[in-house]
Amino acid sequence: MRISRPYKLVSREFRPADRVVEVPSAAGPIRIGAGRLTFLAGPCAVESEAQLMATAKAVKAAGAHLLRGGAFKPRTNPYEFQGLGEDGLKLLAEARERTGLPVVTEVTGCDKIDLVMRYADVLQIGTRNMRSYDLLKSVGSATAATQMPILLKRGDNATIVEFLNAAEYIAKEGNENIILCLRGIRTYESDGKYLRNTPDIGALPVVRSECHLPVVFDPSHSTGKRYLVRPVALAAIAAGADGLLIESHYRPDLAKCDGQQSVTPDELKTLFEMCRKIREITQADLSRASRPNGRP
Ligand code: PEP
Ligand code: MN
Repeated sequence: MRISRPYKLVSREFRPADRVVEVPSAAGPIRIGAGRLTFLAGPCAVESEAQLMATAKAVKAAGAHLLRGGAFKPRTNPYEFQGLGEDGLKLLAEARERTGLPVVTEVTGCDKIDLVMRYADVLQIGTRNMRSYDLLKSVGSATAATQMPILLKRGDNATIVEFLNAAEYIAKEGNENIILCLRGIRTYESDGKYLRNTPDIGALPVVRSECHLPVVFDPSHSTGKRYLVRPVALAAIAAGADGLLIESHYRPDLAKCDGQQSVTPDELKTLFEMCRKIREITQADLSRASRPNGRP
């Protein structure tokens, strides 16, 4: 069969059915994809035991399915908080023990893959590393045996084709358990005054149609402002996201990183309820959005 797309394994043309990525958890596997809603939430960075445990408990109570927090933080400014490193990974593992939530955390370089794999349930590759082809290949081959899920964020200046090719790099090494994450792109609006990035909502139905992998949306990094998280998250669910990645902190005012875009766990609870209502209305439309582009 001839595949016309530059990315093959991840294309809908090659595999028409939605892929469901399973994340093991104490209470049984969490299934991501095929239109069911999955919520990944947690602080931008793991800061301390008290901060992580309070936030983890609260996001779980709000309805999150996975806990997300950074131990290695790729910061724009080298003088800003860089994360707790392995101590942060240990705290994430402890939070998983206490809450039962599987943990998602970023791997920022090839030299850290083995270390992060020892603690994480899902490996995140961030926007800055979407084009680190050595990292994509190394993560793909390091996880081929275990099929550990990978969360791949769209590069902030990557086209959709480049994004799907980045996923293909991982898949080609033998791991197709990839969750895509749209997190906004840079446009002339990205001066941070109103929007940190431009939410790429329109990419959701495109990616669904082109690719069978689950795709979640990050309304936190795509907007950069707390008050924009809810409206953009709701729009993303309406446009077909399989879930959301949201930054939440038990005390956003105290956050060492991205506090201005972090929502409280109370806000999460309200938002998740609204998302479920929107999905009920739009569920039937999802199968239409999942058809390969241009096909009846
Ligand atoms: C993050 O998710 O914590 C993060 C750093 O996001 P991004 O890679 O999308 O900037
Ligand atoms: Mn962040």
